[in-house]
Formats: sequence, structure tokens, C-alpha cells
Amino acid sequence: MPCDTSLRRLILDRIIIHVDMDCYYASVEMRDDPSLRDRPVIVLSPSDQIQVVGTCNYPAREIGLHSGMSVAEAKMMCPDGAFINGDLRKYRAVSEELHRLWSEYTDLMQPVMLDEAYLDVTHTAGSIDEARRFAHEIQRRVREEMGMGCSVGLGYNMVSAKTGSEEMKPNGYFEILSRQDFIDLMEDRGVSEVNSIGPRTAEKLYQAGIRTVGDVRENRSVAANLLGSQAQRILDLCDGIDDRVVTPHNPEDSRSISRSMTFLSDVDDYWLLSDVMFLICVDIANKLAEHNRYGGGVFVIGAYSDRSQFSANRTAKGCKDAMDIHEVAMALFDTIPFRSVRRIGISVYNLSKADSSQTTLDSLMGPQDDRSELDSRLESIRKRYGLEHLSPEDVDRDTIRSIAEHMRTHRGR
Ligand SMILES: [Mg+2]
Repeated sequence: MPCDTSLRRLILDRIIIHVDMDCYYASVEMRDDPSLRDRPVIVLSPSDQIQVVGTCNYPAREIGLHSGMSVAEAKMMCPDGAFINGDLRKYRAVSEELHRLWSEYTDLMQPVMLDEAYLDVTHTAGSIDEARRFAHEIQRRVREEMGMGCSVGLGYNMVSAKTGSEEMKPNGYFEILSRQDFIDLMEDRGVSEVNSIGPRTAEKLYQAGIRTVGDVRENRSVAANLLGSQAQRILDLCDGIDDRVVTPHNPEDSRSISRSMTFLSDVDDYWLLSDVMFLICVDIANKLAEHNRYGGGVFVIGAYSDRSQFSANRTAKGCKDAMDIHEVAMALFDTIPFRSVRRIGISVYNLSKADSSQTTLDSLMGPQDDRSELDSRLESIRKRYGLEHLSPEDVDRDTIRSIAEHMRTHRGR
């Protein structure tokens, strides 16, 4: 049914925007002092003891200056450049404004350093056309409201979005909307152009005569042997596969708590999955209690047996116990077409500190009741799967996998 297909595309495919400010520190300085506009501007790295170039603007780059080079060398190459001591406090403050602007487009924003962020707009945009509109509007607003330029990539996962934003810098926009497009674009590029392949890894491959992304794809086993534990991740990246999830967090409190579980074989039993998700929620609730935090939203992500992903998220202010988180997680899960599942993950994000008024309210409401509800829910899971013992304390990151596998093989339905 064509209608069903388009709906699935809408839900399954992820739409990710990556925003990256162009020469960020230098842009802030040029904005604040327009006389710098047409001169080479060199901002000295604010965090380093040794004097190195942090960022330079495009006129400076044209002369051959680049970040990381010594200031002495930069001054020799460009004696009449404007050399400015970086002011990290100012860059942080501007960054907060940028994050605020970007977060108007989704709850699912993952900032990277001060000047970049991934935005999962799958649900807020709902279509590629609308996501494109978001991307151009973000670029326009950053220019008009913040007085700076940025480059934006639109992709079907994080690596394609990041690759897109790199492609046409500065003030660039580029989209990579399928694995095939990614592969076609990158095939002849050097391996070091793949985001997150570092110079040392690239060198290792280079030594073995593997220079391009296409070479990696054609020499998988050679590359895999050279790369050790990183092999699968790098091979996947060269194939345009990237399972990372945009993990939202509040800049004030960088924590979110995520747990996921990959089954040894596919699970097509909805109730089993619901029970495993409950245990994941118990684990997350334990962590929240340990750090005295409340969640601000719940995010469900997973993969079907064919590796295609699903995800859904919703704000859920003040959630903290396993029952609440599970209720939201299942409501989200129910918006996704149910098929055989290989991996399931839940994350609680936008954590905030539980303040004393909330604690008082809880003690009035009776945490005792919560605890007995939790215990009886666990008791029924224990019986259903013939587990010997199951208390909230038994469930943590290390045990959850074996408990879930036991459940998968002992389900009595
Ligand atoms: Mg940047």
C-alpha cells in the first residue's frame, strides 16, 4: 500500500541536521569589531598555555594559516594580521545563544563543543522538504540574529549530516539523503575525510596502500585486520552506516542516561519486549535516584532485524521512577510499526536536579506505594519467566543482558 510505505518512510528514516559555525572564534571577534571584517584575523587558542593559532578567518586561511600552527610562524607569514587573545567566556556565552536558537527546531539536539550541533528533526520536520526549510531558516537566522555564518548539512544519519556541513564551507548547505549518495560522494576521497577517522588511523591504512574510502570498501578484511577494535565502526562509516543516536542534553547539565540492549536473536514477542523495556527503565530509575535527578524527556530507539532503525521521543517533565518512564516509553514504542526487533534502547534526557519541594511532595505521596507497585511488577516478571529472584537492586547495566536473554529463552506465553 503506497500510503503505508510513505508512512513508514516518515517514521523510520531519520532526518538529521548538522550545524557548524564557520571559523567560530574569529567570527565572534569580527562580529564584535567590524573593522576586522576584511583583514586576516587570527584568534590565539584560549585554552592552551603554548601560543598556538586557535581559529583564523578565511582571509588568513587563504595565506596558508591554519589552527594549531605556532603563533611565531603565523606572525611571520602574516605580519599585518589581527592577532587576538581568545576569550573563552565570551565564546561560551554566544554558544548558549546559538544552542537556544537551534533547539527551537527540536528537543533532540546534541551540541558538540561550542559551535556545532546535531539536530534530529525526524519528528519535528516530518519530511525532507520541511527539514530543508529548517536548515535554510537556521542559516538565515544565525546570520541575521547572531551576525555570523554557519554551514549546514542535512543527512539520513549523523555521519552524513556532518559530512554535508563540511562539504561547502563557509556558508554552505549540502544534503546527503541516502547511503548510495554518501558512497558516491566519498568513494574517491581520502580516508581521512571520513568524519572520525583520525590521522593515525588514516596513516595505518595508507601504509597498507588503502588510500580512499573506495579502497577500504574493496579491501575489507585487510582494513579490518589493521584497525582492531575500531574495525567494524570504520567499515560501517565507509559504507555510510552510522548507528549513533542524537543524544539530547541540556547545556547546564550535560547528562542523559541511556541504556540499550541487543538481543542474541530477533524478538517478535511484544510482551517480552515490553518486560525487557521495563527492566531497562528500572536500571535507568536506579541511576536517576543515585544521582538525585529527574528526567525531562524520554527517547526510545532501536533496530529491526534488518538493521533499519526506529526512534521516537517525547518530553516528560519530572519523570523519575521506572513505572512512569516505562509508561512513556511504551506509548512512544506504540507509535512505531511493530516488527521483529534486534535492539532496543531507552534514554532519559534533560536531567535536572531533584529539588527539595519535589522530594517533599514525593514523601507526602508515599514512596512506599511506588515501591510496592514496582515490587509486584517485578514479581510478575519473575514468575512469568521462571527467574529465581528479581528485585530492583538486581537490575543494572551488567546483569540486564543476561536477565533479558534468560527471559527470551524462558518466556512462558
Ligand atoms: Mg566550526
